[in-house]
Amino acid sequence: MSIILGIESSCDETAAALVTSDRRILSHKLAGQEEAHAPFGGVVPEIAARAHAEIITPLIEAALAEADLELGEVDAIAATAGPGLIGGVMVGLVTGKALAMAADKPLIAVNHLEGHALSPRLANPDLEFPYLLLLVSGGHCQILRVDGAGQYRRLATTIDDAAGEAFDKTAKILGLGYPGGPKVEALAKAGDATAVPLPRPLKGSKEPHFSFAGLKSAVVRAFQSGEHRPEDIAASFQQAAVDCLKDRLEKAIEDHGAAPHLVVAGGVAANVSIRSMLEQLASDYNMQFTAPPLWLCTDNAAMIAWAGAERFALGLTDPLDFAARPRWPLDRDAEKVRGAGVKA
Ligand code: AMP
Ligand code: MG
Repeated sequence: MSIILGIESSCDETAAALVTSDRRILSHKLAGQEEAHAPFGGVVPEIAARAHAEIITPLIEAALAEADLELGEVDAIAATAGPGLIGGVMVGLVTGKALAMAADKPLIAVNHLEGHALSPRLANPDLEFPYLLLLVSGGHCQILRVDGAGQYRRLATTIDDAAGEAFDKTAKILGLGYPGGPKVEALAKAGDATAVPLPRPLKGSKEPHFSFAGLKSAVVRAFQSGEHRPEDIAASFQQAAVDCLKDRLEKAIEDHGAAPHLVVAGGVAANVSIRSMLEQLASDYNMQFTAPPLWLCTDNAAMIAWAGAERFALGLTDPLDFAARPRWPLDRDAEKVRGAGVKA
């Protein structure tokens, strides 16, 4: 059994956690920055980096204290090394390196996306490789086949916005504030999902990818027309997003085959309409559906510690000069898609 300290600081959440290789979460601490970013309607990188730097050391101390551990009792230190806002990533990674050096412990530089991708295995010991993963967050929208820690095949990604970004932008247009996903979902409950005709970008396309930019523009036009109630726009938008995710997952399953498990991870996985669509889809294709608890879906350090534990068990540690990476795809062999500076 090993004990891993996890550190996360890639976006607007500072977090520290202690997790064991036999799936015990000894402590997890999280400090959000919502108030600092709210006036700007989105995350401001410089404000985020400063806030991480202020709180990260006391947060790690608090995590160790709650677990009743000294740094010397930890077996390895796992820190998010990317992808993300580079100032914040550097704060967490440099802190991890300093602790690793001071305590003479191995460093594990964790890909934040791998944290999300493996987090369902922390919550569910029965979840074996391989599985099909829908990773839906504020920065990413991908379908991956997960064959093992460090072994990912990207089947689809977004050519423009991420799903969470579309929720956040819809919230901004409707004046609901930041972060928008939960607010759009709450407002949608009172609306009619068939009231506003909105597009389903790339639905039925031979191309395997996602696109949300056209949906966002259509939401802007619907709002500006003044013809629709905000709750109807929210409900119709949410239904369009659900339909796009469903269609693209079906395409991935038809092209690449089903897997024993269908898994969702990332902040957007908190959405109940999306979860129920996924549950139904999994049962249609004879797959088991796994969704981690909500607190594990949004950014946290337990998932970073767990990804560290999975890598540590495989002997995968990293040198202290490992550089922070603003971009870091899980599948390095995946083809570039149009939108990433590539024309169709
Ligand atoms: P992450 O990037 O993984 O931290 O997740 C944050 C993203 O998830 C943001 O874009 C949120 O708007 C989105 N999100 C959180 N809760 C919900 C929800 N209930 N419905 C839709 N999106 C959500
Ligand atoms: Mg994330």
